[in-house]
Amino acid sequence: MSQRPSHFVEVFHKKRTLLAPPWGLSPTFLPLDRCFSLTTMLLTLLFAWSYVAFPSVGVAEEPPTRRIVPLKIVTDQAFRESTPLWRGFLRRALRQTQEQFDPVALDFRIEEEAYWEPSDPSLPFSVLLSEVQASVPNEGRILVALVGATDRPAEPDLLGYALLGRPYLIVETHSADLFAQTLTHELGHVFGLPHLPGRHVMANRAADRTAEFDVLSLDVLLATRTMDFSHNTPFSECDLHRLKDVYLAWAERGNGKASLLSNLGVAFRREGDAVSAAACLKAALAMEDEFAEAWFHMARVQEDLGDEMAATLAYERYLSLEEAGRFSDRARSSQQRLMGSP
Ligand SMILES: [Zn+2]
Repeated sequence: MSQRPSHFVEVFHKKRTLLAPPWGLSPTFLPLDRCFSLTTMLLTLLFAWSYVAFPSVGVAEEPPTRRIVPLKIVTDQAFRESTPLWRGFLRRALRQTQEQFDPVALDFRIEEEAYWEPSDPSLPFSVLLSEVQASVPNEGRILVALVGATDRPAEPDLLGYALLGRPYLIVETHSADLFAQTLTHELGHVFGLPHLPGRHVMANRAADRTAEFDVLSLDVLLATRTMDFSHNTPFSECDLHRLKDVYLAWAERGNGKASLLSNLGVAFRREGDAVSAAACLKAALAMEDEFAEAWFHMARVQEDLGDEMAATLAYERYLSLEEAGRFSDRARSSQQRLMGSP
């Protein structure tokens, strides 16, 4: 491993130094040996705190090789008509977005275009995105749907929408700068970033957004930059342990997102790491006790771990929340098997 830290790791340490408490007792007032031992002790404490607070950030590493991320652009008529030179408009916005992904060496490339018409342009973004997903295959690319501004009720914080950790996003036409910022924000969601407090591009409120990612977001992007868009499996080809470090740190501060932790748990289980899967699902359920799907996955992980009692209880909890849900039949038959019924 190279000893060269990445750009934002350096920035992180710079910020850490600025935030350090005023421990500067002047060495001139202390005997030299006591001064050294005090300094050593404080440095050790600072390093230990840094490691506990941000386990994966302090690690120096190789800058990643650049990855080209293929995009499939889907436009509706309202977008094309309201933005006559829309390809130039999009390329300019994409260049601004590109700058923000530069620290994690991702290059976005438009590989395909498609037309699509919403059944009703004023429908909520989540519904429009489901329509795009159903009618346009993404073919291993991130599907970027661009729609014209409509008379949708004014929601200043809702300029676009994306599925967390999945390659689908939608953005409504706005001024060039706002368009680029929204595109960056939604791509952040695709690469596994939730809304986060503070002033940066992943802020929930549009008024708090800047163009840039914060340090821990860049750490997540380093873990997800290898994401495979051709499978419908969460966090396929990602650095799961690095993600776990940041997601659990966010969860402890109340900033996490239960669905991301649950998906990460599923990804760990897929790789046969039931212990990490259980840790992620436990954190997801601590955030959202009525998260039915996470209870089902927790039951399966408990089975992997050989804890039949915990598995039975988790299946029970899932079925109490979702009697006729996506996993209900499987949960019932697993529960009967565990309880020894025919
Ligand atoms: Zn958002």
